[in-house]
Amino acid sequence: MPLDAKRIGLALHEELTPHSTLCRREAPAFQRALQGGESLVVACTQEQRLFAELADQTEGARTSVIRFVNIRETGGWSRDAKQATPKIAALLAAARLPDPEPVPTVNYQSAGRLLIIGALDDAERAAALVQDVLDVTLFTTGPGNAGGAQARRWPVLGGQLKSLKGWLGAFDVEWSASNPIDLDLCTRCNACVAVCPENAIGLDYQIDLAACKSHRACVAACTAAGAIDFDRPANLQQERFDLILDLRAPDATPTFLQHAPPQGYLRGTGATPARC
Ligand code: SF4
Ligand code: SF4
Repeated sequence: MPLDAKRIGLALHEELTPHSTLCRREAPAFQRALQGGESLVVACTQEQRLFAELADQTEGARTSVIRFVNIRETGGWSRDAKQATPKIAALLAAARLPDPEPVPTVNYQSAGRLLIIGALDDAERAAALVQDVLDVTLFTTGPGNAGGAQARRWPVLGGQLKSLKGWLGAFDVEWSASNPIDLDLCTRCNACVAVCPENAIGLDYQIDLAACKSHRACVAACTAAGAIDFDRPANLQQERFDLILDLRAPDATPTFLQHAPPQGYLRGTGATPARC
């Protein structure tokens, strides 16, 4: 392997004396280098074990850090060897850098509580796909084009989302339950949907207040369940989930502002598969 020690030395700002049999005939040169400084770079990985043993046996060795770098298979051992000098110099320079600081680790723990946010028809479709492995709750943002199913297969939350923060295993969701229909009391009997002349109640059983004309026919139809109360004060609620599948339009709020969403937060639409 051709080695241009002069050019490599210029790049590294030091004078180099190349050795080709350091692990045998020229071993004393390696041992002398061990006595001369605190760290040493050996441009051979094949005999790494032997060099380590030699270092242990060298009297007066001051070197505490020996780094090994392979400039042969990763650099000069090719038919383009003559052009490999810059890469060899870079490999040697990189090998002299101190080890990076350890990266802090984060533990995630998920019990599989998934909140799906979106139009009820989309959310129910997604829920059906994962219900056998995850504990699903839905957060309705409207009935969607197809409307929701009348059967209550999953818990449904509704209202105005106020905040959504956290990460895999620890998402805190806060919303204002401000709709006149209390989804915990609603039995989905559809009586209010049938009597509303303004079509202001969808199959997500939330009243569209922009369409509502305040006839209160729905209240009369719901006497048995008592789920509709236009005078109920907005109630701030919060709950924790492990995973979020957000099917709302990307510009919907609240959402995460960082360049990459946190682990456990999946974004998608009802029409396309969810993506991270
Ligand atoms: S009438 Fe009452 S219980 Fe029936 S769907 Fe409407 S809100 Fe729910
Ligand atoms: S008050 Fe009237 S318009 Fe409003 S939801 Fe009830 S029935 Fe419909």
